[in-house]
Amino acid sequence: MSNVRVRFAPSPTGELHIGGARTALFNFLYVRSVGGTFILRIDDTDLERSRADYTDKLIASLRWLGFDWDEGPYYQSKRLMEYTSEAERLLADNKAYRCYCSIEDLAKGRDAAHKENRAYQYPGKCRDLASEAEKAYLKEGREAVIRLRTPDHGSTVVDDQIRGEVSFDNEMLDDFIIVKSNGQPTYNFASVVDDLQMGITDVIRAEEHLSNTPRQLLCALALGYKLPRFAHVPMILAPDRSKLSKRHGATSVEEFYNEGYLPEALVNYMALLGWSPGEDREILTLEEMIDSFSLQRVNKTAAIYDVTKLAWMNGHYIREYKPDKLAEASLPFFKRRGLLREELSDPEYDYFKRVLKAVRERARTLVELADAAEYFYLEQVEYDVKGVKKAFKKEGTAELLRTMIEELRAVEPFDRETTEAFYQDLGEKTGLSIGRLIQPTRLAITGRMGGPGLFEIIELLGKEKTIARLEKAIDYIDRYQGSD
Ligand code: GLU
Repeated sequence: MSNVRVRFAPSPTGELHIGGARTALFNFLYVRSVGGTFILRIDDTDLERSRADYTDKLIASLRWLGFDWDEGPYYQSKRLMEYTSEAERLLADNKAYRCYCSIEDLAKGRDAAHKENRAYQYPGKCRDLASEAEKAYLKEGREAVIRLRTPDHGSTVVDDQIRGEVSFDNEMLDDFIIVKSNGQPTYNFASVVDDLQMGITDVIRAEEHLSNTPRQLLCALALGYKLPRFAHVPMILAPDRSKLSKRHGATSVEEFYNEGYLPEALVNYMALLGWSPGEDREILTLEEMIDSFSLQRVNKTAAIYDVTKLAWMNGHYIREYKPDKLAEASLPFFKRRGLLREELSDPEYDYFKRVLKAVRERARTLVELADAAEYFYLEQVEYDVKGVKKAFKKEGTAELLRTMIEELRAVEPFDRETTEAFYQDLGEKTGLSIGRLIQPTRLAITGRMGGPGLFEIIELLGKEKTIARLEKAIDYIDRYQGSD
């Protein structure tokens, strides 16, 4: 076991987004590749936006993806004492100070900066407040925030494992707030106190936090702890390079689940968003990813999200899944569609697995899989409109189906090989091409023009259902004969 300790620290203010999930994955791959400890921390200090049900969902999403953690979840909301006492220590060491500036005063300063087109900075009014003035403020009942005393010259350098050294001018950083007037720590402060107290060796997180890092470094220096290493992973953008959002389809892990994606496919796909194992390898098991993962191979540039590729990968995993696993994963999708009930008997379960085996070739999601298997479970099939024109409206189709039914009754056993041989014979006898026989049969028993091999379907449906559907098709053709 190495002494590497990493954390994934989501804020429970929404569902786990693909960006967050990818950050969790990179933490997970890294820590497993070096044999360290993976910590889950819930950053729930924002009392207004944090919700317990989001925490539950985040945890459920992480479990579904298979990112098991070794410690936690720790909750920032339960660690208020730690932040308060660390802030008190900074105050006692004069590394932080209380600021009594009113919201109105600060807003005035902000407006003025805005008018002059310059970035606003806290002017440091309360930096060296005389104790008399402080007393007066307290008497007035003013509330205070706590600010960190930051250097106004020099620079703070982040030595990022992915980006190299990134330097920030200290002049650009003002004395920022570490504890709000309600006593809650700000993200930058709570995060640093936790990272340091939890012995985090590597902070791996989204690029959007890079601009927070100099502030966090200054907090850490003031607190006098050893700094962790940092790695900021690139953004994930939509194909048009805009920010990934709802209009690009599913973006949260829960939505991907609902659309019928498998965790292995999502994990495999996310791993390649900003990282590559080299040698153009694309399909990788979790173990293979862990074996070849390194932060040095993570890109600096944004990764582009491509749902077509994700769907292709998902199709691959659907085909690779063991029958029992695929059945278990698909069952909720069949239930949701009303095709299956809660409990399946053993024979029903075996039949379900045979159906899945037949239809899984082309399905890219479990939703598509349930769609492709629908006719095995529906009482009535609905005919594809184009199919009707092509396969039912041809002269003599009803007659052809009648002959077929008569002869099919005698076919025994009613399996793939025997029914196929029967169709070959019928073709020879009638002088019709096999396609001419297959097309209306397929439409009659599935309602569709495409799908798995016809004889596989016939075998699965069995004689009774096959014949009943052919009879229904004859009725349909008779009724609509001549109409367009
Ligand atoms: N709670 C922060 C977020 O979800 C964590 C950032 C960090 O990893 O420090 O963005």
